[in-house]
Amino acid sequence: MAKEFQKKFMHPTRRKLVNMVLTGGEYEKDTVISFANAEKSADNNRKKEVGEVWTDSEGKTWEQKDYGKVRVNELSETMSDVRAYLQQLNSCKAEDCKTIKLSRADKKLISKAGYCATCLAKKELEIKIDGLWEVYEDYKIYNNMISYGKDLIEKLNQAYNDAKQEYEFVHEDGKIEKWVLEKDVNEIKAEILTDITMYEGEIEQAKKLRNKAWKKLKDKNYDLVKPPVD
Ligand SMILES: [Zn+2]
Repeated sequence: MAKEFQKKFMHPTRRKLVNMVLTGGEYEKDTVISFANAEKSADNNRKKEVGEVWTDSEGKTWEQKDYGKVRVNELSETMSDVRAYLQQLNSCKAEDCKTIKLSRADKKLISKAGYCATCLAKKELEIKIDGLWEVYEDYKIYNNMISYGKDLIEKLNQAYNDAKQEYEFVHEDGKIEKWVLEKDVNEIKAEILTDITMYEGEIEQAKKLRNKAWKKLKDKNYDLVKPPVD
């Protein structure tokens, strides 16, 4: 009876097989044993092309290589991509970097400038030796000014477009609160436009100076100097 008891917990297909074995040849000749996922397993047994990827009945993913099938773990592949990316963010860009253990300061520098402290100092020294340190600093400052100015103009444009004489706030309870600007909205808009024009002029000026610095730096192909973006 012990065998019968265990059979209850078997997979139906296996139980059928066990029954057949136990009963010898007493089963009907044309009994069809229905395998779960019969279709799928037939597909799994089909010969695979090299490079073919498929998932078996247990949910495992495989890839056919020319030497056989290998398990593909999609999640771990994605994770290793992510890990490689993070690794790249956390490692010095210098090909000849000899820093073995990165300090916190190194990591900070890497995220900002791409190089660890030692490599950055080396690259900076190159520029200093060439007598272009001030030019390099100017180049950085003007680039920062330009991008800051552009952000500012974007915000001013937004403010210009959003400016209204009267603002309405609808509260949750449906009550409407009105705010009225003391100053004439057209006057405010005119002021914003004046500011925009002023900043645009400053950006133009900064660009001229930036380009002047770039001219002196570009032929040196310093790792630390990227071409202007505009
Ligand atoms: Zn380094």
